[in-house]
Amino acid sequence: MRRFIKSNMVSGHFHSNSRGLTARNNLEHFTQNGQIVPYFQPLVNLRTGSLSGFEILARWQHPIEGLLPPSRFIPAIERSGRISDLTDQLLASAARYASAWRGKFTLSLNISPSELHDRSLPQRLVEAAEANGFSPERLIVEITEGALIEDIGVAGSIIDNLKALGIRVALDDLGTGYSSLHHLQTLPFDEVKIDSCFIRQITKHSESRKIAAAMIGLGLSLGLTTVAEGIEEQEQADILRCFGCSLGQGWLFGPPISGEDVPEDPVTFQISSGDCFDSAGETMLKTATKPWESLAELRAIYEGAPFGLCFLNCDCRVIKFNRQFANLYPSVLFEAHAGRKLSEVAPGLALALDGHIERAILGKGTSGITMRVRESTTAIALLLSCQPVRDESGDVIGISVAVFDASSKRRIKS
Ligand code: C2E
Ligand code: CA
Ligand code: CA
Repeated sequence: MRRFIKSNMVSGHFHSNSRGLTARNNLEHFTQNGQIVPYFQPLVNLRTGSLSGFEILARWQHPIEGLLPPSRFIPAIERSGRISDLTDQLLASAARYASAWRGKFTLSLNISPSELHDRSLPQRLVEAAEANGFSPERLIVEITEGALIEDIGVAGSIIDNLKALGIRVALDDLGTGYSSLHHLQTLPFDEVKIDSCFIRQITKHSESRKIAAAMIGLGLSLGLTTVAEGIEEQEQADILRCFGCSLGQGWLFGPPISGEDVPEDPVTFQISSGDCFDSAGETMLKTATKPWESLAELRAIYEGAPFGLCFLNCDCRVIKFNRQFANLYPSVLFEAHAGRKLSEVAPGLALALDGHIERAILGKGTSGITMRVRESTTAIALLLSCQPVRDESGDVIGISVAVFDASSKRRIKS
C-alpha cells in the first residue's frame, strides 16, 4: 500500500512518556515563535481511495524535546484562556499551506469546548481562512460532545452561524459522549466521526462490528458523511467500506505530516491498494442504500416473489413469511402462528427441513430439497431451499426458507 507520506519525512509520532507543559515553558513565546504548527492527516474516500481532505492536528516543535502531541500543551493553553489565539493561528497557518496546494480538498479543524461559548468564533474562522486564500466552504469544524454539555443553546446558535457562513460541522469522537443521539437530533451536523475505540477491534470482535455498522447506519439514515478514525489495517478499511462508511482516517492511509511534507498536488496522490477501491465508487457512494431503502427493497422482494418465502430465527421460530408461502398451507393460519416454532405450525415442513436448518445455522445453505404435502384431496410437490441469513458483520441471524410449488402446473390427484 502506498501511503500518504514521503519516504524521507518525519511523521507526527512522538514518545508517550513526554512530560506536560510546565511553568518554566513560556507558552506565549512558543506560540508566537511559530513553534506550535499544524500537521495534516489525510481523510480518504473509502471507495475510491482518493483524498477528501486533511484534519489539522496541532504539534509543538519543542527545541529540546522534539515534536510534542496536543495532550502536552492544549490543556495548559485552555487553562490560560488563550485557546482562541491558538485556533486562529493554526487555521491561518494551515490555510496558508493549503492555498498553495492544488485541488478542492477540505480542512478539518478541532476546536476546544470553551470555544463553543464564544460568539466571535464563526467570523474569526472565516477571516483566518479567507485572509490566507482558503474558502470557508472547504472548512469543517470538529466538535466533541464535551463542548455541548454546558450551554447547548449558545453552542447551537454558534453552530448555526458557522453553517450560515458556509462552514461544515462534524461531531467528533461519536459514541464516547453522553447524549450523542440527542445532539444528532437537535443540532445540524454535516458529518460524524466514529471514534477509533470502535474501529480497533472491528476485525476481531463481532460486537465491535455491530456497533460500527449501527453507527454508520445511523449516519447514513440522517444523510451525514460518516468518517471512521484510527484505521490501521486494510481489513478494517474493507469492513467499513462494506458497511457504507464514506471516509477513513488512520495510519493505514498516512500519519499526520507537516505542511512542508504534503505534496503540492495532494489530490492526485491517490491512495492505492490493489482492489481495495473501485473506480465507480464515487457514484456508488452517492447512491448507497440507506437502511429504510433496504427495508422497502426487502419488503418488495418478499411481496413480489413468485414463490413462498419464510424467515426463521436461529431458534427456528417463524418471524416473517409472504403471501405465497401462506397460500401453500391454506389449512394453516400462519398469521396466527407468527413467532411460534415451525415444528408447531407446520410439522411436515419442519420434518422435511430437519438437518438442513441446523446446517444453515452453521452457515451452510442447501437447495433442491423436495417434499410432498397433502392438501385435502391433492398432493403438492414442493422444492425447497434453506439458506443462512447473515447480518452486516457476517454472523448468521436466521434462516431463509424458499418454497416453490413444483406441481402447480400438474396437480397430482391422490
Ligand atoms: P482527535 O480529534 O480525535 O484526533 C485524532 C487523533 O488520533 C490524533 O491524535 C491522531 O494523531 C490520532 N490518530 C490518527 N490516526 C491514528 C491511527 O491510525 N491510530 C491511532 N492510534 N491514532 C491515530 P493527536 O494528534 O495526538 O490529537 C489528539 C487530540 O488532541 C485530538 O483528537 C483532538 O481532540 C486534540 N487536538 C489536536 N489538535 C488540536 C487543535 O488544534 N485544537 C484543539 N482544541 N484540539 C486539538
Ligand atoms: Ca478531531
Ligand atoms: Ca476524533
